[in-house]
Amino acid sequence: MGAEFAFIDRIRARAGASGAVLGIGDDAALWRPGPDTEQVVTADLLLEGVHFDLAYTPLDDLGRKALAVNLSDLAAMGAVARWAVLSLGLPGDPDRFWPLVEAFLDAADAADVTLIGGDTCASGGGLLVGVTVIGEVPTGRAVRRAGARAGDGVWVTGTPGESAAGLALLKGQAADIPKDARDHLVRRHLDPTARVAEGVRLREAGVSAMIDVSDGLAGDLMHVLDASGVGAVLEADALPLSGPLRAYCAAIGTNTAAHVLSGGEDYELVFAVPPPAEAKVNDLIASGAVAACRIGRFETEPGLRLRRDGEVRPVTARGYEHFA
Ligand code: ADP
Ligand code: MG
Repeated sequence: MGAEFAFIDRIRARAGASGAVLGIGDDAALWRPGPDTEQVVTADLLLEGVHFDLAYTPLDDLGRKALAVNLSDLAAMGAVARWAVLSLGLPGDPDRFWPLVEAFLDAADAADVTLIGGDTCASGGGLLVGVTVIGEVPTGRAVRRAGARAGDGVWVTGTPGESAAGLALLKGQAADIPKDARDHLVRRHLDPTARVAEGVRLREAGVSAMIDVSDGLAGDLMHVLDASGVGAVLEADALPLSGPLRAYCAAIGTNTAAHVLSGGEDYELVFAVPPPAEAKVNDLIASGAVAACRIGRFETEPGLRLRRDGEVRPVTARGYEHFA
């Protein structure tokens, strides 16, 4: 048996029974959607040299992250992930990349997601990992980018900015910070956590718009502003900061608000909370189901602004853009 088919067989054996009508092994997969649900699909491509550098990216982290970035997109819709498709372009011996597949499958098991297909090719260039995830959301309930209204609160989960700090450190930036702070920031970049359960709970609580932060808090929030036809003002003092991030910004002498707003690859959720949903969101936070805070307010005046030391200034920073 050729290396390609042996590798696919190994994936099929490790993936186990799928619960789908047809999983790995035929020409295509087949599943039966649940009643009263809409299907949600998302795809993300991770390319060596563009999204990761194997010099500092362990293969198991890459496998987990390839799933997490997709789970994050479904979380931002308030959807539940069900099925995954994994496409691999492998430079050289496929077995060398098994740790990636194994970590991907472990993460899929943990998220109750089943691998039902994919493609495996030799790559003449670098490593390519393409993942598609299919999920479900109750009919008519998906949370979109459009939906924020003036008067809604701007909220965010977690502590965005940590991943960008971790990436800079991995790339060799000098920062005099404690080792545990450094390790924390680096882990946040290599092994981000998608806010999967949070997305569903926030949908149920009645948030009016949501997006995940992949390209930077300010840039991604601007997509919500554009789609919703509103503006927003953020409070610099309300932006969440972890101890490690505070230490990092102090060590490299950068403004914390500027760093948190530009960031990237945080996979946190930014969402709009209309006044009637506020009590429910606060309950989710009090119960520990969601870690989030309010960072500002949507307004009718278009554009994104930041209030710092009593002064309101426009935020111009856009997020990461390919081909820019
Ligand atoms: P085809 O030549 O028709 O594309 P393949 O030999 O590529 O078929 O795939 C055979 C089966 O193995 C299909 O069910 C396909 O979805 C599955 N498969 C191939 N590569 C992967 C992978 N990386 N992960 C999961 N399933 C895979
Ligand atoms: Mg194929």
